[in-house]
Amino acid sequence: MIDTHAHIDADVFDEDRDQMIAQAFENGVKAIIIPAIEPDRYDGVLSICNQYEHIYCGMGVHPHNANDYSAPVEDRIITLLENPKVRAVGEIGLDYYYDFAPKDVQQEVFRRQLNIAKSYDMPVIIHNRESDDDMIEILQEEQNGELKGVLHCFSSDLTMLRKALDLGFHVSFTGNITYKKSILDEIVRATPLDKIMIETDSPYMTPVPHRGKRNEPQFVRFIAQKIADIHALTFEEIITMTSNNAKSLFRLPLFLIVFLFGLSTFPIIAQDDRNEEDTEEQVQSIEKNPYARFIGFGPSLATNTIVETLTDIDRPERRDTRSWDGNPAFGFSVAYNPLEFLMLEGGILHTRNNAKLKNALPVPGTPTDPDVYTVFNITARAIANPRSKVAFFALGGINFQSKRIHSTNVLFTDDSQLAFNAGAGFMVNIPTSFGMIIPIAEWRLDFESKNDTINLPNEQKYKDWGDIEISTFYSLPRLTILWYPKF
Ligand SMILES: [Zn+2]
Ligand SMILES: [Zn+2]
Repeated sequence: MIDTHAHIDADVFDEDRDQMIAQAFENGVKAIIIPAIEPDRYDGVLSICNQYEHIYCGMGVHPHNANDYSAPVEDRIITLLENPKVRAVGEIGLDYYYDFAPKDVQQEVFRRQLNIAKSYDMPVIIHNRESDDDMIEILQEEQNGELKGVLHCFSSDLTMLRKALDLGFHVSFTGNITYKKSILDEIVRATPLDKIMIETDSPYMTPVPHRGKRNEPQFVRFIAQKIADIHALTFEEIITMTSNNAKSLFRLPLFLIVFLFGLSTFPIIAQDDRNEEDTEEQVQSIEKNPYARFIGFGPSLATNTIVETLTDIDRPERRDTRSWDGNPAFGFSVAYNPLEFLMLEGGILHTRNNAKLKNALPVPGTPTDPDVYTVFNITARAIANPRSKVAFFALGGINFQSKRIHSTNVLFTDDSQLAFNAGAGFMVNIPTSFGMIIPIAEWRLDFESKNDTINLPNEQKYKDWGDIEISTFYSLPRLTILWYPKF
């Protein structure tokens, strides 16, 4: 068996990579191909290849990383193609599901790498997600008789399959063909045996019965078994065919013993649907979050409406509400995401109650400064859909309000205290070549924890009230722009 597509350079294998590879070879895997994703990982990929005789790789820039493509990167790929361990240009392609790079950039980067493959007589490893039409159009235009390669993790329809086969491409299948809800049986059946290959796409796409766990090359046998079932052939026949196809496409210097002894010792578990209820979330939790966030920071702007409820202490039936609308507030936030659905924020926000000052009657002998609020907050945002471009959240936290009350009151008071914040909003995840930019729009309410007691003898409306109890909250539609630099 040859696992033609396994990202075993991924960080999730750092703990036990050697052991995981040993297990794959013990379980009948004869060779593994690691398609590189991004220039930063090329050295890591090559060091694994150099350590193991039967591990090979492709070199390329994945559509997710198309923004990282440059002339030096292209030169590096070309140089690396001379390394005997590099057997393909890949992983390259188009991915319109996660539009990490603009479509035209993805297409340009894809075409350039197709042309490198043609010039250096290398096969390509192609990634295609929600981009069938552009994919086939580009392949048709670029096919001059010299282009060869594989559409990996094939999950498109029959039309796409026929067009790819017409262009001479191989297709490889991964764990998703074993899923109960898979509609790929028909596609697998329609793929001729001299064009079919198997792969795990580790650490993603774990096949049944291990679905929900980290995927690794030893599980490639479950994909071979599923293809055998669909084609009504034996497991041995399928691994012979798929291995020969991989060996010739990637020109692997492998000597394959056609029918291996002792295959029956590999536990080919019958399609076991026990874990079918594991569903997508668990599989997703293993997949890399395309919008990974760690530490970010940036400015925020808000309009602060201060709402006060006044009660006459001696005559509690005397109540009134007043508000000071539209005071500009500005500040700065630092965010830390310990979990993908949790963003912790420490921030500072500053407001002056200009609205109140404007309406104040000057009182001789008292300063005409505005009330000043400086609020320090620690807030948690719980993100409902952290892997979406537009992600929604609810928030809650605690404030320390440094509050200096000046205007309209005879006496300056320091009314600093704790407050609580709560609210909701959404963020937009914008990946760029220099990190993630995340504009956040939210509506926050800050509730003061303690009520104040004052007198308002200078205000017409309240001058005959006694001691007045005031409870205050703040309504803050707020915009923050965070920058999460790349580490
Ligand atoms: Zn892929
Ligand atoms: Zn891949």
